[in-house]
Amino acid sequence: MTDEIFRHDGYVFEFEANVVSVKGDEVILDSTAFYPGGGGQVCDTGAIRGIPVTEAFYDKDGNIVHMVTGNDLQPGERVWCSVDWDRRYELMQGHTGEHLLFCSLKRQCPDLTITKIMISPESKYVIVNHDLSWEQIREAQRFANQAIVDNLAVTKSIMDRDDPDLEKVRIKLDRIPEDEEISVVAIGNIDLSACSGVHVMETSELEMLIVDRKVSAGKDGIAIHFKVGQEAKNVAADLASIALEIVDGIGCKTEDSVRAVANMRHDLDLEGRLLRKATKDLAVSTVPEDVHGTPVLYAVLPGTDRAVLTDAAESVKSKGGVALIVGVTDTLAVIMASGTPAVDCRKLLPDVLKQFGGRGGGKPDFAQGGVTDSSLADEVLKAMRATVEKSLSSSS
Ligand SMILES: [Zn+2]
Repeated sequence: MTDEIFRHDGYVFEFEANVVSVKGDEVILDSTAFYPGGGGQVCDTGAIRGIPVTEAFYDKDGNIVHMVTGNDLQPGERVWCSVDWDRRYELMQGHTGEHLLFCSLKRQCPDLTITKIMISPESKYVIVNHDLSWEQIREAQRFANQAIVDNLAVTKSIMDRDDPDLEKVRIKLDRIPEDEEISVVAIGNIDLSACSGVHVMETSELEMLIVDRKVSAGKDGIAIHFKVGQEAKNVAADLASIALEIVDGIGCKTEDSVRAVANMRHDLDLEGRLLRKATKDLAVSTVPEDVHGTPVLYAVLPGTDRAVLTDAAESVKSKGGVALIVGVTDTLAVIMASGTPAVDCRKLLPDVLKQFGGRGGGKPDFAQGGVTDSSLADEVLKAMRATVEKSLSSSS
Protein backbone atom coordinates (compact mmCIF):
# COMPACT_ATOMS: atom_id res chain seq x y z
CA MET A 1 0.00 0.00 0.00
CA THR A 2 1.31 3.45 -0.87
CA ASP A 3 2.32 5.66 2.07
CA GLU A 4 0.08 8.74 1.63
CA ILE A 5 2.33 11.49 3.00
CA PHE A 6 -0.36 14.22 2.71
CA ARG A 7 -2.48 12.36 5.29
CA HIS A 8 -0.06 13.15 8.11
CA ASP A 9 1.82 16.15 6.69
CA GLY A 10 0.19 18.52 4.23
CA TYR A 11 3.37 20.63 3.91
CA VAL A 12 5.66 18.04 2.29
CA PHE A 13 6.00 18.88 -1.36
CA GLU A 14 9.38 17.32 -2.19
CA PHE A 15 10.10 13.68 -1.43
CA GLU A 16 12.03 10.60 -2.54
CA ALA A 17 10.19 7.40 -3.44
CA ASN A 18 10.58 4.05 -5.18
CA VAL A 19 8.74 3.35 -8.41
CA VAL A 20 6.47 0.35 -7.79
CA SER A 21 4.94 -0.04 -11.24
CA VAL A 22 4.84 1.65 -14.64
CA LYS A 23 2.01 0.89 -17.05
CA GLY A 24 2.40 3.23 -20.00
CA ASP A 25 1.83 6.74 -18.62
CA GLU A 26 0.50 5.46 -15.27
CA VAL A 27 3.05 5.33 -12.47
CA ILE A 28 2.62 4.02 -8.90
CA LEU A 29 5.09 4.91 -6.13
CA ASP A 30 5.67 3.33 -2.70
CA SER A 31 5.01 6.71 -1.07
CA THR A 32 3.59 9.97 -2.39
CA ALA A 33 2.75 13.54 -1.42
CA PHE A 34 0.53 13.96 -4.51
CA TYR A 35 -3.06 14.49 -3.31
CA PRO A 36 -5.28 12.49 -5.69
CA GLY A 37 -8.23 14.86 -5.30
CA GLY A 38 -11.36 14.40 -3.21
CA GLY A 39 -13.93 16.29 -1.18
CA GLY A 40 -14.32 18.73 -4.07
CA GLN A 41 -10.60 19.59 -4.13
CA VAL A 42 -8.87 18.86 -7.44
CA CYS A 43 -5.69 16.74 -7.55
CA ASP A 44 -2.09 17.92 -7.42
CA THR A 45 0.29 18.28 -10.34
CA GLY A 46 4.09 18.38 -10.32
CA ALA A 47 6.98 16.20 -11.50
CA ILE A 48 8.67 12.82 -10.98
CA ARG A 49 12.39 12.91 -11.82
CA GLY A 50 11.69 16.17 -13.68
CA ILE A 51 8.99 14.61 -15.90
CA PRO A 52 5.61 16.40 -15.53
CA VAL A 53 2.82 14.76 -13.52
CA THR A 54 -0.42 16.08 -15.05
CA GLU A 55 -2.86 14.21 -12.83
CA ALA A 56 -3.10 11.94 -9.79
CA PHE A 57 -6.04 9.70 -8.89
CA TYR A 58 -7.03 6.50 -7.06
CA ASP A 59 -7.32 3.35 -9.17
CA LYS A 60 -9.91 0.68 -8.37
CA ASP A 61 -7.46 -1.06 -6.01
CA GLY A 62 -6.94 2.07 -3.93
CA ASN A 63 -3.48 2.92 -5.31
CA ILE A 64 -2.59 6.49 -6.20
CA VAL A 65 -1.79 6.62 -9.91
CA HIS A 66 0.39 9.45 -11.28
CA MET A 67 -0.11 10.35 -14.95
CA VAL A 68 3.41 10.87 -16.31
CA THR A 69 3.02 11.15 -20.08
CA GLY A 70 5.86 9.72 -22.19
CA ASN A 71 7.95 8.71 -19.14
CA ASP A 72 10.95 6.34 -19.17
CA LEU A 73 10.66 5.42 -15.47
CA GLN A 74 11.60 1.88 -14.40
CA PRO A 75 10.09 -0.21 -11.55
CA GLY A 76 12.50 -0.24 -8.60
CA GLU A 77 14.03 3.10 -9.55
CA ARG A 78 14.55 5.61 -6.74
CA VAL A 79 13.14 9.00 -7.85
CA TRP A 80 13.01 12.57 -6.65
CA CYS A 81 9.46 13.97 -6.79
CA SER A 82 7.99 17.42 -6.39
CA VAL A 83 4.42 18.67 -6.06
CA ASP A 84 3.61 22.09 -7.62
CA TRP A 85 3.60 23.83 -4.23
CA ASP A 86 2.03 27.19 -5.19
CA ARG A 87 -0.93 25.39 -6.68
CA ARG A 88 -1.21 22.91 -3.82
CA TYR A 89 -0.94 25.58 -1.10
CA GLU A 90 -3.67 27.62 -2.78
CA LEU A 91 -5.88 24.52 -2.83
CA MET A 92 -5.17 23.89 0.89
CA GLN A 93 -6.08 27.51 1.67
CA GLY A 94 -9.22 27.18 -0.48
CA HIS A 95 -10.25 23.91 1.13
CA THR A 96 -9.79 25.27 4.66
CA GLY A 97 -11.58 28.44 3.53
CA GLU A 98 -14.53 26.32 2.45
CA HIS A 99 -14.79 24.76 5.95
CA LEU A 100 -14.59 28.21 7.53
CA LEU A 101 -17.06 29.83 5.12
CA PHE A 102 -19.64 27.09 5.47
CA CYS A 103 -19.54 26.98 9.28
CA SER A 104 -19.86 30.80 9.29
CA LEU A 105 -22.86 30.68 6.93
CA LYS A 106 -24.44 27.92 9.01
CA ARG A 107 -24.35 30.17 12.07
CA GLN A 108 -26.64 32.50 10.07
CA CYS A 109 -28.86 29.65 8.76
CA PRO A 110 -28.76 26.54 10.94
CA ASP A 111 -30.70 24.50 8.35
CA LEU A 112 -28.09 25.14 5.65
CA THR A 113 -26.58 22.01 4.01
CA ILE A 114 -23.91 21.48 1.36
CA THR A 115 -24.82 19.93 -2.01
CA LYS A 116 -21.47 20.34 -3.74
CA ILE A 117 -17.97 21.73 -3.23
CA MET A 118 -15.45 22.87 -5.85
CA ILE A 119 -11.89 23.83 -4.95
CA SER A 120 -9.66 24.39 -7.97
CA PRO A 121 -7.17 27.09 -9.00
CA GLU A 122 -9.83 28.57 -11.33
CA SER A 123 -12.84 28.54 -9.01
CA LYS A 124 -13.74 27.98 -5.41
CA TYR A 125 -17.36 27.61 -4.40
CA VAL A 126 -19.78 25.78 -2.18
CA ILE A 127 -23.31 24.97 -3.35
CA VAL A 128 -25.81 25.21 -0.50
CA ASN A 129 -29.41 24.04 -0.39
CA HIS A 130 -31.01 27.50 -0.25
CA ASP A 131 -30.38 31.20 -0.80
CA LEU A 132 -29.10 33.62 1.85
CA SER A 133 -29.48 37.39 1.97
CA TRP A 134 -26.42 39.56 1.31
CA GLU A 135 -26.70 40.83 4.89
CA GLN A 136 -26.41 37.23 6.17
CA ILE A 137 -23.41 36.69 3.88
CA ARG A 138 -21.75 39.89 5.17
CA GLU A 139 -22.28 38.75 8.76
CA ALA A 140 -20.80 35.30 7.96
CA GLN A 141 -17.86 36.98 6.23
CA ARG A 142 -17.18 39.15 9.31
CA PHE A 143 -17.22 36.05 11.52
CA ALA A 144 -14.87 34.15 9.19
CA ASN A 145 -12.38 37.03 8.97
CA GLN A 146 -12.40 37.41 12.77
CA ALA A 147 -11.53 33.69 13.00
CA ILE A 148 -8.61 34.39 10.63
CA VAL A 149 -7.41 37.27 12.84
CA ASP A 150 -7.75 35.02 15.91
CA ASN A 151 -5.44 32.50 14.19
CA LEU A 152 -7.30 29.35 15.24
CA ALA A 153 -5.55 25.99 14.97
CA VAL A 154 -6.76 23.60 12.26
CA THR A 155 -6.31 20.06 13.59
CA LYS A 156 -7.17 16.56 12.47
CA SER A 157 -8.23 13.58 14.60
CA ILE A 158 -9.63 10.11 14.08
CA MET A 159 -13.02 9.22 15.58
CA ASP A 160 -14.91 5.94 15.93
CA ARG A 161 -18.30 5.49 14.36
CA ASP A 162 -19.86 4.99 17.81
CA ASP A 163 -18.12 8.00 19.44
CA PRO A 164 -20.91 10.04 21.13
CA ASP A 165 -19.07 13.26 20.18
CA LEU A 166 -19.72 12.44 16.52
CA GLU A 167 -23.06 14.22 16.76
CA LYS A 168 -21.19 17.54 17.06
CA VAL A 169 -19.49 16.84 13.71
CA ARG A 170 -20.71 17.93 10.28
CA ILE A 171 -20.74 14.53 8.60
CA LYS A 172 -22.54 12.51 5.94
CA LEU A 173 -22.09 9.08 7.55
CA ASP A 174 -23.81 7.29 4.67
CA ARG A 175 -21.04 8.47 2.34
CA ILE A 176 -18.25 6.92 4.46
CA PRO A 177 -17.68 3.15 3.94
CA GLU A 178 -18.32 1.03 7.08
CA ASP A 179 -14.70 -0.13 7.35
CA GLU A 180 -13.16 3.33 6.85
CA GLU A 181 -11.93 5.38 9.81
CA ILE A 182 -13.52 8.80 10.28
CA SER A 183 -11.11 11.69 9.97
CA VAL A 184 -12.41 14.84 11.65
CA VAL A 185 -11.04 18.35 11.04
CA ALA A 186 -11.46 20.97 13.75
CA ILE A 187 -11.11 24.74 13.33
CA GLY A 188 -10.42 26.01 16.86
CA ASN A 189 -13.65 25.37 18.74
CA ILE A 190 -15.92 26.78 16.05
CA ASP A 191 -16.18 23.87 13.60
CA LEU A 192 -15.89 20.08 13.43
CA SER A 193 -16.22 18.46 10.05
CA ALA A 194 -15.55 14.97 8.71
CA CYS A 195 -12.98 15.38 5.94
CA SER A 196 -9.98 13.49 4.62
CA GLY A 197 -8.62 16.33 2.48
CA VAL A 198 -5.57 18.55 3.00
CA HIS A 199 -5.78 21.76 5.04
CA VAL A 200 -3.54 24.52 6.34
CA MET A 201 -2.48 24.40 10.04
CA GLU A 202 -3.74 27.80 11.19
CA THR A 203 -6.52 30.09 10.01
CA SER A 204 -4.12 33.06 9.68
CA GLU A 205 -2.72 31.27 6.60
CA LEU A 206 -5.98 32.14 4.80
CA GLU A 207 -5.09 35.89 5.18
CA MET A 208 -8.63 36.91 4.17
CA LEU A 209 -11.89 35.38 2.98
CA ILE A 210 -14.36 37.13 0.70
CA VAL A 211 -17.56 36.00 -1.03
CA ASP A 212 -17.34 37.45 -4.54
CA ARG A 213 -20.34 35.90 -6.30
CA LYS A 214 -23.67 34.22 -5.60
CA VAL A 215 -25.48 32.45 -8.45
CA SER A 216 -28.23 29.90 -8.92
CA ALA A 217 -27.03 26.31 -9.33
CA GLY A 218 -30.44 25.09 -10.54
CA LYS A 219 -31.95 22.24 -8.54
CA ASP A 220 -28.76 21.93 -6.43
CA GLY A 221 -29.37 25.33 -4.82
CA ILE A 222 -27.14 28.39 -4.72
CA ALA A 223 -23.43 28.51 -5.54
CA ILE A 224 -21.48 30.78 -3.16
CA HIS A 225 -18.14 31.65 -4.75
CA PHE A 226 -15.28 32.83 -2.57
CA LYS A 227 -11.62 33.77 -2.60
CA VAL A 228 -8.86 33.43 -0.01
CA GLY A 229 -5.29 34.73 0.40
CA GLN A 230 -3.80 37.53 -1.68
CA GLU A 231 -6.45 36.92 -4.37
CA ALA A 232 -9.18 37.72 -1.81
CA LYS A 233 -7.46 41.05 -1.04
CA ASN A 234 -7.17 41.95 -4.73
CA VAL A 235 -10.80 41.05 -5.42
CA ALA A 236 -11.97 42.94 -2.30
CA ALA A 237 -10.18 46.11 -3.40
CA ASP A 238 -11.59 45.86 -6.94
CA LEU A 239 -15.13 45.12 -5.76
CA ALA A 240 -15.05 48.06 -3.35
CA SER A 241 -13.98 50.40 -6.13
CA ILE A 242 -16.63 49.05 -8.55
CA ALA A 243 -19.30 49.48 -5.85
CA LEU A 244 -18.23 53.11 -5.33
CA GLU A 245 -18.37 53.75 -9.08
CA ILE A 246 -21.92 52.36 -9.15
CA VAL A 247 -22.88 54.52 -6.16
CA ASP A 248 -21.47 57.52 -8.04
CA GLY A 249 -23.53 56.60 -11.10
CA ILE A 250 -26.71 56.33 -9.07
CA GLY A 251 -25.92 59.61 -7.35
CA CYS A 252 -26.73 58.59 -3.79
CA LYS A 253 -24.90 57.87 -0.55
CA THR A 254 -23.21 54.45 -0.22
CA GLU A 255 -25.47 53.50 2.69
CA ASP A 256 -28.59 54.30 0.63
CA SER A 257 -27.47 52.54 -2.56
CA VAL A 258 -29.17 49.17 -2.01
CA ARG A 259 -32.51 50.87 -1.38
CA ALA A 260 -31.94 53.30 -4.29
CA VAL A 261 -31.39 50.42 -6.74
CA ALA A 262 -34.52 48.64 -5.48
CA ASN A 263 -36.51 51.87 -6.00
CA MET A 264 -35.06 52.29 -9.51
CA ARG A 265 -36.03 48.75 -10.47
CA HIS A 266 -39.53 49.33 -9.12
CA ASP A 267 -39.90 52.59 -11.08
CA LEU A 268 -38.56 51.03 -14.27
CA ASP A 269 -40.98 48.15 -13.98
CA LEU A 270 -43.89 50.53 -13.40
CA GLU A 271 -42.94 52.75 -16.34
CA GLY A 272 -42.59 49.71 -18.60
CA ARG A 273 -46.12 48.62 -17.70
CA LEU A 274 -47.50 52.15 -18.23
CA LEU A 275 -45.80 52.40 -21.63
CA ARG A 276 -47.23 49.03 -22.72
CA LYS A 277 -50.68 50.13 -21.68
CA ALA A 278 -50.37 53.49 -23.47
CA THR A 279 -49.16 51.76 -26.66
CA LYS A 280 -52.08 49.36 -26.48
CA ASP A 281 -54.62 52.14 -25.87
CA LEU A 282 -53.22 54.16 -28.76
CA ALA A 283 -53.38 51.14 -31.09
CA VAL A 284 -56.98 50.40 -30.13
CA SER A 285 -58.10 54.01 -30.52
CA THR A 286 -56.52 54.46 -33.97
CA VAL A 287 -59.26 54.05 -36.58
CA PRO A 288 -58.43 52.28 -39.87
CA GLU A 289 -58.95 54.31 -43.06
CA ASP A 290 -60.90 53.02 -46.03
CA VAL A 291 -58.62 52.50 -49.06
CA HIS A 292 -60.48 51.23 -52.15
CA GLY A 293 -62.86 49.34 -49.86
CA THR A 294 -60.19 47.82 -47.58
CA PRO A 295 -59.68 49.09 -43.99
CA VAL A 296 -56.00 50.07 -43.51
CA LEU A 297 -54.50 50.92 -40.11
CA TYR A 298 -51.49 53.30 -40.07
CA ALA A 299 -49.80 53.79 -36.75
CA VAL A 300 -46.56 55.00 -35.23
CA LEU A 301 -46.56 53.67 -31.67
CA PRO A 302 -44.13 54.28 -28.78
CA GLY A 303 -42.32 51.16 -27.57
CA THR A 304 -41.41 47.98 -29.39
CA ASP A 305 -43.17 45.42 -27.22
CA ARG A 306 -43.69 42.83 -29.97
CA ALA A 307 -46.74 41.32 -28.26
CA VAL A 308 -48.58 44.66 -28.14
CA LEU A 309 -47.70 45.58 -31.76
CA THR A 310 -48.58 42.09 -33.05
CA ASP A 311 -51.93 42.05 -31.20
CA ALA A 312 -52.90 45.36 -32.82
CA ALA A 313 -51.87 44.09 -36.29
CA GLU A 314 -53.65 40.73 -35.90
CA SER A 315 -56.87 42.43 -34.85
CA VAL A 316 -57.02 44.45 -38.13
CA LYS A 317 -55.93 41.46 -40.22
CA SER A 318 -58.68 39.23 -38.79
CA LYS A 319 -61.29 41.70 -40.15
CA GLY A 320 -59.85 41.48 -43.68
CA GLY A 321 -57.88 44.71 -43.32
CA VAL A 322 -54.24 45.73 -43.58
CA ALA A 323 -52.10 46.97 -40.66
CA LEU A 324 -48.94 49.07 -41.06
CA ILE A 325 -47.32 49.64 -37.69
CA VAL A 326 -44.02 51.25 -36.71
CA GLY A 327 -42.94 50.79 -33.09
CA VAL A 328 -40.40 53.38 -31.93
CA THR A 329 -37.69 53.09 -29.28
CA ASP A 330 -34.07 53.86 -30.11
CA THR A 331 -34.67 51.78 -33.28
CA LEU A 332 -37.81 51.03 -35.34
CA ALA A 333 -39.78 47.76 -35.22
CA VAL A 334 -41.91 47.51 -38.36
CA ILE A 335 -44.92 45.23 -38.85
CA MET A 336 -47.09 44.67 -41.94
CA ALA A 337 -50.12 42.38 -41.63
CA SER A 338 -52.71 41.68 -44.30
CA GLY A 339 -56.13 39.99 -44.30
CA THR A 340 -56.50 40.40 -48.07
CA PRO A 341 -54.74 38.57 -50.95
CA ALA A 342 -54.37 41.97 -52.67
CA VAL A 343 -51.53 42.88 -50.28
CA ASP A 344 -48.60 40.43 -50.03
CA CYS A 345 -46.53 41.49 -47.01
CA ARG A 346 -43.63 39.19 -47.83
CA LYS A 347 -43.22 40.90 -51.22
CA LEU A 348 -43.85 44.48 -50.14
CA LEU A 349 -42.19 44.98 -46.74
CA PRO A 350 -38.56 43.96 -47.51
CA ASP A 351 -38.45 46.35 -50.50
CA VAL A 352 -39.68 49.28 -48.42
CA LEU A 353 -37.26 48.62 -45.54
CA LYS A 354 -34.31 48.25 -47.93
CA GLN A 355 -34.76 51.93 -48.94
CA PHE A 356 -34.06 52.88 -45.31
CA GLY A 357 -31.15 50.52 -44.75
CA GLY A 358 -33.36 48.05 -42.90
CA ARG A 359 -34.30 44.40 -43.29
CA GLY A 360 -37.45 42.34 -42.99
CA GLY A 361 -39.24 39.13 -43.93
CA GLY A 362 -42.17 36.87 -43.15
CA LYS A 363 -45.27 35.40 -44.76
CA PRO A 364 -47.77 36.84 -47.27
CA ASP A 365 -50.19 37.69 -44.42
CA PHE A 366 -47.60 38.86 -41.86
CA ALA A 367 -44.11 40.29 -42.18
CA GLN A 368 -41.83 42.21 -39.81
CA GLY A 369 -38.46 43.85 -39.72
CA GLY A 370 -36.42 46.73 -38.38
CA VAL A 371 -34.69 49.99 -39.21
CA THR A 372 -31.80 51.30 -37.10
CA ASP A 373 -32.44 55.04 -37.48
CA SER A 374 -35.45 55.82 -35.27
CA SER A 375 -35.88 59.35 -36.75
CA LEU A 376 -37.24 57.77 -39.95
CA ALA A 377 -40.52 56.51 -38.41
CA ASP A 378 -42.87 58.81 -40.38
CA GLU A 379 -41.02 58.32 -43.67
CA VAL A 380 -41.05 54.51 -43.31
CA LEU A 381 -44.79 54.60 -42.64
CA LYS A 382 -45.35 56.90 -45.63
CA ALA A 383 -43.43 54.56 -47.95
CA MET A 384 -45.36 51.52 -46.69
CA ARG A 385 -48.59 53.40 -47.19
CA ALA A 386 -47.70 54.28 -50.82
CA THR A 387 -46.83 50.72 -51.77
CA VAL A 388 -49.95 49.26 -50.09
CA GLU A 389 -52.26 51.83 -51.73
CA LYS A 390 -50.73 50.97 -55.12
CA SER A 391 -51.39 47.25 -54.55
CA LEU A 392 -54.97 47.86 -53.44
CA SER A 393 -55.76 50.24 -56.35
CA SER A 394 -54.41 47.83 -58.99
CA SER A 395 -56.51 44.99 -57.60
CA SER A 396 -59.74 46.95 -57.22
ZN1 LIG B 1 -11.61 19.46 4.38
